[in-house]
Amino acid sequence: MNLVMASPTGLCFGVRRAIGQLESALAEYGNVYSLGSPIHNPQEVERLSRLGLRLVESASDVPCGRVSFVRTHGVTKPEMEALAKRSRVVIDGTCSHVRATQNRAKSLSREGYRVVLLGDSKHPEVRAIMSYIAGDSLVISGKDEIDEGARYERLGVLSQTTQMEASLAAIVAKLILITGEIKVYNTVCRATIERQKSIRLLAPNVDGIIVIGGESSANTRKLVEISESLGVSTLWVELVGELDRGWLEGKRSIGVAAGGSTPDWLINDLTCKLQTL
Ligand code: SF4
Repeated sequence: MNLVMASPTGLCFGVRRAIGQLESALAEYGNVYSLGSPIHNPQEVERLSRLGLRLVESASDVPCGRVSFVRTHGVTKPEMEALAKRSRVVIDGTCSHVRATQNRAKSLSREGYRVVLLGDSKHPEVRAIMSYIAGDSLVISGKDEIDEGARYERLGVLSQTTQMEASLAAIVAKLILITGEIKVYNTVCRATIERQKSIRLLAPNVDGIIVIGGESSANTRKLVEISESLGVSTLWVELVGELDRGWLEGKRSIGVAAGGSTPDWLINDLTCKLQTL
């Protein structure tokens, strides 16, 4: 069996930086409290928990005077304020791309634009971005949610960092027909675009693609969707143990891709296992 790795794949720079920040903080302070899971990969979270990472549901669960951590997706403005009040130190792991999108949202709403954000309304990154908007705003997950009968004076359009550029272009193409003035920022992250592109390049050259990444990882899910949309047999695994021998049968060439929150050690485990098969 021939293994072909997608390139680039695996940890994006935002998650790599956050893991580095957490490892340093855990070595220095012992315990670090993260509001929600810092990385959408349960195995990596488990490894960090053994080093002293503690997950909490809300800022009020961080014991006073301890060290807290803000994940790459960022947290809402009120959550950030609450963390700052309770913690001795707040380590801000918010990715620079996410921070830039929060700032765009803030400035658009200050300039009087109604903000339209392409994304999943339940995703923590989206909730955090929306918390920086003072005026009218709207989260949509795709072009089909746009009411063609509506009329807008000024719209400011942004995207969750892990969405597809094609989806952003599709909503802009529709919104432009019903809006007087439209300002668009392409806030899809380059790391995401490159990983999505690597799947498209891989697909025509392999018999199947294995995508490795956490079930809750939005960017892993997108990789799976792209692979499936290209008509390639696709297997999504979170753990090496989930490799399906039946799926491998008859495939001579297998592509391997990983979401931006999948640690290197998990990718290595998977490729080693595939080689032994
Ligand atoms: S996918 Fe992009 S925006 Fe998200 S953490 Fe990675 S580098 Fe940052």
